[in-house]
This record gives sequence, structure tokens and C-alpha cells, in this order.
Amino acid sequence: MTDRLYLNDSYLQTARATVIACQQHEDNYAVELDRSVFYPTGGGQPCDRGTIGGNDVIDVIEQDERVLHIVSSPFKPGDIVECHIDWARRFDHMQQHSGEHILSFAAKELFGAINVGFHMSAEYCTLDLAEPLTREQIEAIEAKANALVCANLPVCLRYVEADELASLTLRKQAEGLEGTVRIVYMPQGDSCTCCGTHVASTGEIGLIAIMGTEPYKGGLRLSFVCGSRAIPYLQKTRGILQDAARAYSCKEDDVPQAVQSLRRELADIKREHKVLQTKLVRAITKELAQEARQVKGKRLIARLVDLPPSQLRPLAAALCETAGTLTLLLARAEEGVQYVLCCSEGLGLDMGELAQSVNPALLARGGGRGCLAQGRANQVSGLEGSIEQLAGYLEKRLEVLR
Ligand SMILES: [Zn+2]
Repeated sequence: MTDRLYLNDSYLQTARATVIACQQHEDNYAVELDRSVFYPTGGGQPCDRGTIGGNDVIDVIEQDERVLHIVSSPFKPGDIVECHIDWARRFDHMQQHSGEHILSFAAKELFGAINVGFHMSAEYCTLDLAEPLTREQIEAIEAKANALVCANLPVCLRYVEADELASLTLRKQAEGLEGTVRIVYMPQGDSCTCCGTHVASTGEIGLIAIMGTEPYKGGLRLSFVCGSRAIPYLQKTRGILQDAARAYSCKEDDVPQAVQSLRRELADIKREHKVLQTKLVRAITKELAQEARQVKGKRLIARLVDLPPSQLRPLAAALCETAGTLTLLLARAEEGVQYVLCCSEGLGLDMGELAQSVNPALLARGGGRGCLAQGRANQVSGLEGSIEQLAGYLEKRLEVLR
């Protein structure tokens, strides 16, 4: 069994240890030591990294109560090895984990909200609370947690037997624990069972910043950063706010209001735009109807129109409400042109078939069937001539209809 040195001294960065066992582990080797400074992944906290005998530790896992250090080179049982942890990574984990205890304590003290989950990722941590809370309540939890940091309270350890747990005042009663249990506590403050690595006094946690919340299983998931992670987070959010203020030409405090008023303005413009577009389509429909070529009792409208491509279909549909109408309408798009071929019900032509003649003339791709076909072309040069040519062709097709 490995003596887990990190449990009693989270500030211990190096240790000399003896290899107890070493076995193949996938493409690497799992080394067991008689004593270890390496925290294995567990309890929401990621493992330590560092070196064993100069070899990088890729992972540290717990398996059947054994601590396995994953390295790329094998060791022999009996080898004496120097172990070093990546201290920056460990101290960061200590700041985050102690910060989580303080936040959970504040949530329970202020609003009776129990912590039901904790996860630490490389960028931020999440804490799950069983209760939904308001924005004001979250801010109060953040303020209390930071006040506890400023109070610079000691973070202490003690060990009790599992059967004593029920008689203790703990933030959360842990279930299913056996043997000796480790308790992390602050005098007159938080107390809970935990095997993570912690700072010695709360001042070392530094700033605790809540990044956001989201509903989670009837409660709340809160994301946060502590200590050295809080500074880049604040710098990033300040940058975003400054950029937004610059974009809106307003003070940073006025950004939400500026967004609101721009949204209102946009909604008004969209409404007006819709009304004007309807009027424009109606006017163009009228104009095109007047210019229609009459072909043996049928009418043909082939034109490039000055409208966005999205308006081609409603325009063609409006024109084809008049029986015996065939339309070929084109509009310039961001790249190239788009066309719509449309005819009145019962005209006796298939637009899918006509599209096969239209496509080569416009160097377009497109298709359809029945009364509607559409397509697009990248090339726009000589468009007027092509339309004229196509109009001649469509006229002929109309002439032979009965
Ligand atoms: Zn913990």
C-alpha cells in the first residue's frame, strides 16, 4: 500500500520513493511506489503531473485502492526514484478545490443550498447546487466566499473513524464511508469529508469569481475560477466589455441598454422593410404584367429584376396566378445570379424539363418539376443577351402549346 504523502502535506513537492511494482499499462507502464506525492484523479480533482526518476508522469489513477503512476518507461521493483510534482499545477488545484469548499459553505449557510457535485477542468470548475437560486443570491454567495478568503482562516485536517461521522456537524453527511475518514475544516466554518489537496489558509485561494450559472437537475450549476485563474478571466471579460462599448460607442455601463435599443430599432426596421418589400413586389408585378409578351393567348415574362433573390419565388407566384403565364425571373445574388422558372397551373409545360434548356444558356445549375424550377449561376457576363435568347426559345415553346 502506498503512503499517500499529499494527504498530510499538500505543500510537499518532492520525495524519494521505492518502486513496489511496475506493469505494462496500455502503451505505457503503471508504477506503484511505497510513498507518493502525486494526487490521483478523484473527487472532482484532476491528478498531479511531474516526474518520477526523470520520466514524465502522464497520468495518476487510483485502482483498487492502489495509486498507479503512468509513465512511458519501465522501472524495476526496488528502484529508488526521485519524484517531483508540477507545483504550478498542484497549487492551482489547491486554490480551486479550497475555493469550492468555501463557495459550498457560503451557499449552505446563506440559502441552505447543498452542493451535490464538483468538477475541475483545465479552464474552470463547476459546482452543482440542489436549489435554484436568483442572481442576487449568487452574488451574495460570491461576496461571502470572498469575505472568508480575506479573513484568511486556517484550513485544517483531522481524521475520524467512519462510525463517528454521524455525531459530527458536517456540511454534507457522506454515505458509505468505512475505516478512517479525512475531514477538511475551517475552525467555526466549513467542515466536510474530502481527500483533495488544499491550501493552508483561505487567503491563498485569492479571488473567487463566479463566471455563470445554468439550470441543472432542478437546481443550479455554477461555474467559477479561483486565484491565478481569476485574473485572465477578468481580463478577458473586461476586454469583451470594452470591445462591446467601443462597437456601440457608449460607456461600458450602458452596453446592455445600447443592445436593447438596437434590438428594438432592428425590429422596427424589419417590420418597415417587410411592408415596403410587399409594396415593391406588388409594383414590380404590375410593371412586369404590362410588359408581358402575348403568345397565342398565353403570356411570357422573362426578366432580370432588381430584387433580392429571396423575392423571386413570391414574385413569380404572384405573376403566375393569372392563367396561361410562363415566367423566367432572374436576380443578382452575392455571387452570380439566381433564377426561378414558374408557370400557371395547367399550362402544359414542365419547369424541370425547361430548366434543362435554361441551365446551359446561363451556365447555371438548377432543376425542379411541375410548375416550379430554380437554379443559380456564377457567371453573369452577357446576361441580357442570354435572357433575350431564352425568351425567344420559351416563346417558341408556348407557340406550340394547344
Ligand atoms: Zn473537497
